[in-house]
Amino acid sequence: MINALSTALEKEVEERSGEKPRLCYQCGKCSTGCLFNFAMDILPHQVMKLVQYGQRERLLGSHTIWICASCETCTARCPNDIDVARVMDTLRAMALEGGVAPAERNIPIFHRCFLGNIQATGRISEPVLMGAYKTLSGDLFSDIGLAVRMLKKGKIKLIPSVVRGSREVRRIFREAKE
Ligand code: SF4
Ligand code: SF4
Repeated sequence: MINALSTALEKEVEERSGEKPRLCYQCGKCSTGCLFNFAMDILPHQVMKLVQYGQRERLLGSHTIWICASCETCTARCPNDIDVARVMDTLRAMALEGGVAPAERNIPIFHRCFLGNIQATGRISEPVLMGAYKTLSGDLFSDIGLAVRMLKKGKIKLIPSVVRGSREVRRIFREAKE
């Protein structure tokens, strides 16, 4: 339950996510299980604490909220049933809505390209996805060797296909936006 001592940030996160960061007792299980903890500037259990302390700018401007891959390992490990991944997702949405420049510039670009590809055809086409991502991010050549190896092994399908229910997929996107 939200009480009188809750910070504005804590109240907002709780209302939007339905989760209760206040219940976190800092056991650290979420952070030790996180596969991406090595790349984070704030570990998941620290995120819970900073939400309690109302550290909005620090959290919304962090690398962590963009490094988080929503794998839900933290959620599964939490002895207090806090959906940590959902809290991360909520903070990401708050950062986007608040116009906070993402600390990891290319990750939101990748998200947009991925979703745009799904919305258009109902499935991912690697060449289309990577073409869009590389163009928008300006990171043109960093994986070129890997791309060539994958092409040689037939791992990349050059001609994109459209799923049968693509119209349905577009409708889902439309309704989600509304
Ligand atoms: S959901 Fe995010 S924070 Fe949680 S374990 Fe996965 S990557 Fe780490
Ligand atoms: S696992 Fe749950 S209780 Fe433990 S630190 Fe993480 S969020 Fe807090």
